[in-house]
Amino acid sequence: MPHKAIQRLLLKRFTLAAGTYLLALVLLWLAIFSGHYRAPISSALISSALVVLSQCVLLGVFLSGRNLSFADPSLTEAQVLVGLGWQTWLMAHLDLARGAFLVFYVLILLFGLFHLSRRAFVRCASLVFFSFAGINLWDGYHLQLNDPPLAALQVCVLFLVLLWLVLYARYVQASRQRMRQRRFALQAHQDTLRGMMRQLEDLVATDELTGLFNRRHFLRLASRELNAMDAGVVHGLALIDLDHFKRINDLHGHAAGDQVLQAFAAVAMACLRDGDVLARYGGEEFVVLLPDCDAERLTSCCERLRIAFTEVELIGLSVRDLSLSAGMTLLALGDDLDDALQRADQALYRAKRDGRNRCAAAWENVDA
Ligand code: GH3
Ligand code: MG
Ligand code: MG
Repeated sequence: MPHKAIQRLLLKRFTLAAGTYLLALVLLWLAIFSGHYRAPISSALISSALVVLSQCVLLGVFLSGRNLSFADPSLTEAQVLVGLGWQTWLMAHLDLARGAFLVFYVLILLFGLFHLSRRAFVRCASLVFFSFAGINLWDGYHLQLNDPPLAALQVCVLFLVLLWLVLYARYVQASRQRMRQRRFALQAHQDTLRGMMRQLEDLVATDELTGLFNRRHFLRLASRELNAMDAGVVHGLALIDLDHFKRINDLHGHAAGDQVLQAFAAVAMACLRDGDVLARYGGEEFVVLLPDCDAERLTSCCERLRIAFTEVELIGLSVRDLSLSAGMTLLALGDDLDDALQRADQALYRAKRDGRNRCAAAWENVDA
């Protein structure tokens, strides 16, 4: 979750807690004015100031947001313990109004219901019970209880409410755990699907025999390169066709032909630099796009490739006189890809017509 979103949630939770404390303060002063508060007013003033101070400190911690996760259980437990401590202190100074203030114990515990671990929640609930029972026992021991049966009833009611809260907290925690597991399972499925999508995309873009890009993917890449082209930049494009390939198939078999195609792909990849795009255009025809290139570099690259292919040695095969022909053209800003491919094709046709095993350029004077 983004940092800002966590901070917003923290702030919401803090506001809720601060609102609860504020309400308790209002009720405390109501208890004082209605004569149910038996300690000196100064103690109420000090406790009110402490509550305000503690909330200001917590607000500072939340706003700084450093290393705090929203669900940090130790922070929540500290917050709940502060609340319980203050509430117990208040209870100790109330007389008959204690019953009405019991509800604040529940409110404070509810605050930790979703974020505390099961153990921590049971710890807090036990603390509430023993604190309240302790206050009443202490008062009873000092004969300060106004109505002992009512106090006993309050302790019993509190016990039942706490028991219910603990059971409910267990249920909530178990549900959260189940939901978390489901979320992880869904995430795992999502990752698998993403991986499969990537594999599919690769399959769709790749020629099975040579491992090069296929024609469709090349056209997509080349159009993208053309659209992103800057003024003054030139790309080189060459169509390459293996010479007398049908003869290889006829003399040595289709498998040998396949091996030649694979050998060409390996040789061509070794001759190109990063960023150059080589694809199988169809059959024994290939296409290469050299971004940010000029006539000289395109020619030398195609020549290098042509010579490298003539020197190819096939494992277990004695195919002789391997050669290729290439038709080259240049692409400038605003050029059409289909037109460029057609220019390259015409140049390739000339290379074939002039005897094969050569590279012809579309920019050379044509019809001799
Ligand atoms: P040219 O020098 O004029 O290009 O003659 P060529 O024999 O190379 O050209 P042609 O178009 O007559 O023959 C191409 C052959 O390539 C025909 C086809 O059976 C073969 N071919 C196409 N795809 C494959 C392939 O994937 N594997 C193999 N082994 N042969 C293929
Ligand atoms: Mg051919
Ligand atoms: Mg051909």
